[in-house]
Amino acid sequence: MPEGDLIFRAARTLHRALAGHEVVRFESVLPALTRVHEDTPITGRTIERVEAAGKHVLMRFTGDLVLRTHMRMSGSWHIYRPGERWQRPRSDMRVLVATKGFEAVGFNLPVAEFLKPAELARHDDLRLMGPDLLGEDFDADEAVRRFRGRGALEIADALLNQRIAAGVGNIYKSEVLFLCGVDPFAPIERLSDETLREILATGRKHLKANVADPKGGITTYRGYRRGAGGDASERRYVYGRARKPCRKCGTLIRVKAQGPHARLTYWCPACQA
Ligand SMILES: [Zn+2]
Repeated sequence: MPEGDLIFRAARTLHRALAGHEVVRFESVLPALTRVHEDTPITGRTIERVEAAGKHVLMRFTGDLVLRTHMRMSGSWHIYRPGERWQRPRSDMRVLVATKGFEAVGFNLPVAEFLKPAELARHDDLRLMGPDLLGEDFDADEAVRRFRGRGALEIADALLNQRIAAGVGNIYKSEVLFLCGVDPFAPIERLSDETLREILATGRKHLKANVADPKGGITTYRGYRRGAGGDASERRYVYGRARKPCRKCGTLIRVKAQGPHARLTYWCPACQA
């Protein structure tokens, strides 16, 4: 599951490229989407706004229509200039929304549906979603209350539960608990409110740092890739660093599959006792 900051940045890039512009071309291989397009064409509508809600990307069109997508493990949104070569095969394309200036292509999106705003408001994944760590009005009290309602859950698992607090994915789960010195296998009921608040604040700080963007321009997928490179685990505290020495104490970092979905958890057994 991608981290909330990645979704946030994807939505922001889509918003900058598309918002205020008219759709000149719409394509999809998903029958539920093409049916809506045939009945009430997407072409000719204006994209009002693209925003992230937790791990959902919501693309709002004039005429009361919202495209909700969720990337899960496999999906991604790319932005291209018209004629720019795609970085993924055409067979992976699920949705394409084009304006005069940009093509937004959703590849391998496991979830993509058109909804009326009222249907969106009733959608369980969004309605029941916990406070969004990247939200301007993040409500820490409410997040702590939701943690308390799931006292038997191990904290690392609870951090992935978007109905408690939204935004943390598997990498930050390990990183945040290391920074707070908290055992990832500790049940919530053994942790103080103060510790839970520190975990939330640390997660929020790091997610927000990763969406800070002083440049503010639009970078198409190719341009975005040019800046990438190097081994990401070199920049991390514990994630991806199994059997390497802890950056604080030198103890070897451990890794274990945790929770019902067997997500990998990395931790220092000394710093996070
Ligand atoms: Zn350590």
